[in-house]
Amino acid sequence: MYLSLARKYRPRTFAEVAVQTHVSNTLRGAIARGRVAHGYLLCGPRGVGKTTLARVLAMALNCERRGADGEPCGTCASCTRIWAGSASLDVIEIDAASNRGVDDARDLRERAMYAPSGEERYKVYIVDEAHMLTREAWNALLKILEEPPPRVVFVFATTEPQKIQQMAAPVLSRLQRFDFKRIGAADVRARLSTVLAAEGIAAEPDALMLLARAADGSMRDALSLTDQALSLGDGTLTAQRVRDALGLVPEDEVLAVLALVAEHRAADVFPTIARLADAGADLGLFLGAVAEALRSTLELVLGGSGAGELSDASRAALVDCASRFVPGDLVRMLTAISELEPRFRRSGQQQILLETLLVRFALLDRTVSIEAMLREMGPGGEEGGSGADRSAPPAPPRPAPSREARSAGGGGAGRASHDRPVAPRTPTPTEPPFDLRPAAAPLADAPPRAATAARAPQPRVTLDGLVGQWTEIVSRLRTDGRMALAAALEHVQPIAVSASGEITFELEPTGEIYQQPIAASAADVLSAVGTMFTGASRLVVRVGERPAGDEPAARRFTEESVRVERLAMLRKRDPTLDAAVETLDLELLD
Ligand SMILES: [Zn+2]
Repeated sequence: MYLSLARKYRPRTFAEVAVQTHVSNTLRGAIARGRVAHGYLLCGPRGVGKTTLARVLAMALNCERRGADGEPCGTCASCTRIWAGSASLDVIEIDAASNRGVDDARDLRERAMYAPSGEERYKVYIVDEAHMLTREAWNALLKILEEPPPRVVFVFATTEPQKIQQMAAPVLSRLQRFDFKRIGAADVRARLSTVLAAEGIAAEPDALMLLARAADGSMRDALSLTDQALSLGDGTLTAQRVRDALGLVPEDEVLAVLALVAEHRAADVFPTIARLADAGADLGLFLGAVAEALRSTLELVLGGSGAGELSDASRAALVDCASRFVPGDLVRMLTAISELEPRFRRSGQQQILLETLLVRFALLDRTVSIEAMLREMGPGGEEGGSGADRSAPPAPPRPAPSREARSAGGGGAGRASHDRPVAPRTPTPTEPPFDLRPAAAPLADAPPRAATAARAPQPRVTLDGLVGQWTEIVSRLRTDGRMALAAALEHVQPIAVSASGEITFELEPTGEIYQQPIAASAADVLSAVGTMFTGASRLVVRVGERPAGDEPAARRFTEESVRVERLAMLRKRDPTLDAAVETLDLELLD
């Protein structure tokens, strides 16, 4: 007869009880010093060793060859009987889930009155699922515990101590309580490794890692899942066999999806997810695995070890991934997943939801460009940028207060937030996690590229003139290698030019992050304008108001926003593609 691993490797001594040393050491010490209590309450999640430890306690109390340290021998007749859970006169196991009436409680009480079977022995009642006992049963137990018969010990095990607290607080106060820890994946893995070695079964490290992760803190589950995987075949226990037994999505698929996101291959999302769905994969589990991988990547990016429970192969892949993501993107992706998850589980449209999410991830590259831009522009001086601008016009005077500036003015009544460019910040969780709005004014609005006589006497700057040449000006900045500044300027429209030559730029409502970098490079912008016009003296950058009642558009994920984002992305990657993009634009529109 096949003995399950959980049963075969059930600990026989306190020392063998994994993880819960804070409990086992205390109990062993109490036995060694002869200071055993009449009642114990063992609390903790399922599968962490509560009943096991109760049995070891019973064995230790009744062992014929107990060590001076309080350990049971584990092999004498008494130990063997108790360990196996077979009939023992002195150790009575009660499952409260099935014996919870008052009659059983009376029965218990009467039986407790009988002395243990031998002079040196203890009677031990192990009550499992103790929170299922009725109030009457607790009342009967309270009477016993108020005047406990000698050499009788009650051990209550429960996953829900708060229920006992509500129903039988007076009993609780008479029990010594121990809280068991959830068993970490590393401990589960170590234990599985020992058990399989004892069985003479080789196992791939990744197989153990998968089992430990699936066991989710329960040693009992870990061992029975291992049984399940072993029953599928012979020889080395492979990760693949574990996946087959547990219905797990291969890690490779998760890593492939991350790579796809990192490389912005949005179009590849669809065949990838379709293939998974066709293969009958549980998309919910898959989403969870993607989140897990992103979390590990984030940990790596932030300098951590990348979580303990990664296979070597995936760790290597994630290290590679980590070099391609910035923390801001990872946090946003994780936030988006956690927001989606509750809805995802109930949805009948899991495939579409998952595809949409991953396409959003794949198109998410703005953070990278902003961070690159900020690097390029430096920390952004207070007054017009760098010292090289001494002869340049003064810094932008008082940009119109942005939403950001207003919200930053907590204590300063707004004054400080005007003259000083507000430092860009990373989006807070209250903002839409993704900004998929059109990146710039639509190309259709741009005037025809004018290669007009730049050598002719320069006209004085006017709004019409500036608007007419705006694309060209930005394009020249880009050609001069000011890529980041040019990218930022794609988010503004010139909206006013005063008689004194003060130019006002309006940023798109969501473009406030560009305000400070542009303002800091005001001198460069003015000199670019100066290649075509005279008289430009100052620059004001303000953020456009969001139309009232306008839902943040990023919440709505439309084909339109994907399209525009994709165009912006392509343009950013290769400015020389502008013409081609315009064509593509038309094709997509029509
Ligand atoms: Zn023994």
